[in-house]
Amino acid sequence: MFMRLVRMDERVGKDVVRLYCEPETWGYPPWNEAMKCASCGRQYGVPELEERFGKNWREMGLKCECGGELKPFWSPEEVEKEVREVLERGFGLAFYEGEKIVGFTMGVFLKLPEVRERYGEEIAEYFRRRGVAEVFYAMDTAVRYEYRGKGLGTMLVRERQKYVEKVVEGCFGRTKNPVMIRILEKNGFERTGIFDPNYPDREFIAKVKRGGKV
Ligand SMILES: [Zn+2]
Repeated sequence: MFMRLVRMDERVGKDVVRLYCEPETWGYPPWNEAMKCASCGRQYGVPELEERFGKNWREMGLKCECGGELKPFWSPEEVEKEVREVLERGFGLAFYEGEKIVGFTMGVFLKLPEVRERYGEEIAEYFRRRGVAEVFYAMDTAVRYEYRGKGLGTMLVRERQKYVEKVVEGCFGRTKNPVMIRILEKNGFERTGIFDPNYPDREFIAKVKRGGKV
């Protein structure tokens, strides 16, 4: 398996949007974000879709319990907005095998007032107490389903940190995924015990280098 690691630009950003929106990318536990109902909003993971509709669920027009139509959980428009922000004021990396994107990690640089505004007082205070004024917020890291379990997620985070830690003193993400928590801990992050006020099941995982720059 020969992989190419590239920095995110406009072209890579388009591939990121496509991979992001494939039902398998966020379709397994703990996310289960494969499809959602256009009427009632109920979300369906891949395991549930296979159980209800069989292995060929991808080729069928699926209906929710309520009768509404199921559509992919993530729409390109939502993700494009996120990618645009990364291109303007963030950093991202992607793995390619040949021309196929197989994983990505991306985030943005934020000043503390922005951290406070987006993610709440508590996590902003966590950084302020440690003398950090600007941070990198790691939005998303994903590896294509068939490529999981090969260490690509760990490599993406490690390579991302090499760059990010030259630029800012602190870094954080939020997750409920035990796999990602372990990857971050291996890279020097710690669990903060602070949960996102908007998504109370997601804990902030942070890293601050003692004595200045990370
Ligand atoms: Zn429904």
